[in-house]
Amino acid sequence: METKYIFVTGGVVSSLGKGIISSSLANLLIARGYRVTVQKFDPYINIDPGTLNPYEHGECYVTVDGHEADLDLGHYERFTNIQTTRANNVTTGRIYQSVIDKERRGDYLGKTVQIVPHITDEIKRNVKALGNTGKFDFVITEIGGTVGDIESLPFIESVRQLRWELGNNCCCIHLTYVPYIAAAKELKTKPTQHSVKQLQEVGIQPDILVLRTEKHISTEMRRKIALFCNVAPEAVIQSMDVPSIYMVPIKMHEQHLDELVLKKTNVPVESEPDMKPWLNFLDRMAAAEHTVTIGLVGKYVELQDAYKSINESLFQAATYNNRKLKLVFIHSEKVKEDNVDEKLRDLDGVIIAPGFGQRGIDGKFVALKWCREHDIPTFGICLGMQCMVIEFARDVLGLPEANSTEMDPQTPDNVIDLMEEQKSLSDKGGTMRLGAFDCHLDPNSTAAKAYGTTEISERHRHRFEFNNDYREQFEKAGMKCVGTNPSTGLVEVVEIPGKRWFVGTQYHPEYSSTVLRPNPLFLDFIKAAIKYGKEVHPAE
Ligand code: GLN
Repeated sequence: METKYIFVTGGVVSSLGKGIISSSLANLLIARGYRVTVQKFDPYINIDPGTLNPYEHGECYVTVDGHEADLDLGHYERFTNIQTTRANNVTTGRIYQSVIDKERRGDYLGKTVQIVPHITDEIKRNVKALGNTGKFDFVITEIGGTVGDIESLPFIESVRQLRWELGNNCCCIHLTYVPYIAAAKELKTKPTQHSVKQLQEVGIQPDILVLRTEKHISTEMRRKIALFCNVAPEAVIQSMDVPSIYMVPIKMHEQHLDELVLKKTNVPVESEPDMKPWLNFLDRMAAAEHTVTIGLVGKYVELQDAYKSINESLFQAATYNNRKLKLVFIHSEKVKEDNVDEKLRDLDGVIIAPGFGQRGIDGKFVALKWCREHDIPTFGICLGMQCMVIEFARDVLGLPEANSTEMDPQTPDNVIDLMEEQKSLSDKGGTMRLGAFDCHLDPNSTAAKAYGTTEISERHRHRFEFNNDYREQFEKAGMKCVGTNPSTGLVEVVEIPGKRWFVGTQYHPEYSSTVLRPNPLFLDFIKAAIKYGKEVHPAE
């Protein structure tokens, strides 16, 4: 079968959930047996979101091949179980960089280099790059931003051109918003009409409209939208708010989104998608009665998306343990010795979050000391693991000034230090230790038991590492380095055996956790938290 290209654009406002709709469509097509990938084109000038802080852009996701990517790629992987790569996330910055490099090499043979055709050709080349590998039946391309933004114009123009070139191998889905005006008790379709008109002005007629709404949209209203927007009435789909994003594929299937896409791209609709494993997850979610309460200690607690993959991994692990997840965000800057007990005592488990820089670090140490002394299941991720090491050095090894050279370059006890390969680097973008690396686990460790194997591979994003000069001292005092990289000896996992569950990972296990393949370490952490909860708060 020829590769089919599906484009997903957004209108009216941002944050409508194009990523969830794209992921849900991919999920349904995969359940029908097709080979699918999802990619995102972001209209900003940064080469990648690696240099953006979480206030700008939420979490930075990392692919196995070491690309710092938009957090929507996390949704794609969680919904499809298929790994993404650098090719799945392209920015305006990457497009321009590549065109300018070609110009400098003389590839344009004396021509004036312009947005049309040179930038649009480069965009189109990138849109088709994954499809041209022959590995996919469907390539779903999400265009970031909102139609009408100056920045997304070259992308939209490229979609217009591709539509012509691809003919029936192409389908355009436009996601808009239908606001509910409470005072008038009415849903309003005008913003959708305007947004579709804007798309039509640049030469794109959407095939399918997906309407985000808080209230049910009547058949009558859908007919009206169809009429005004040149779309078939059955191709006007509503996407109403649901309690969990993982229900969206089912909602889309009920309204035949997958079937519409198949028909539009001339693919025979033969059978129904096999949603059994997905429905099994949703059933568990619905059946869970009891709650597991996890505290996440970090400095971006006011940002919904800053720890997206951790939240989702915890939710998946709780669901597979037949529990509802109650996630309590604990602002690390506000944790002090005189309030730590009150903040942590009702929890079943604690996550110490990843991060960069000094802000909020002291609260992480206070929390960690409490966790260690109260023997509550504790999971440190990346900076969280490094904090476990520093806190242990200060409190147990008696090295009061122990630190990471990230926070104190002059520390006499650099238990966490800049990696050797990092010392000569000056550029910040894309230069961390990034992507999946192998790790060998001690067979007796909590981690090895959780994974059910001693050989694993997980994704990284860091510049600093455990300083192996201190390894013996730590191990003697009870903190073991139970996971190391087989080729460099770099410490990847630390644990305190004898504790209920006290594990720190230099890598980010949250990036590899998907709905159908939850990460084993999260599953085990939640299991330990449930057990602890039963022991310590038996009345609840
Ligand atoms: N700042 C730490 C480092 O660079 C940890 C990074 C992280 O938590 N992702 O090593």
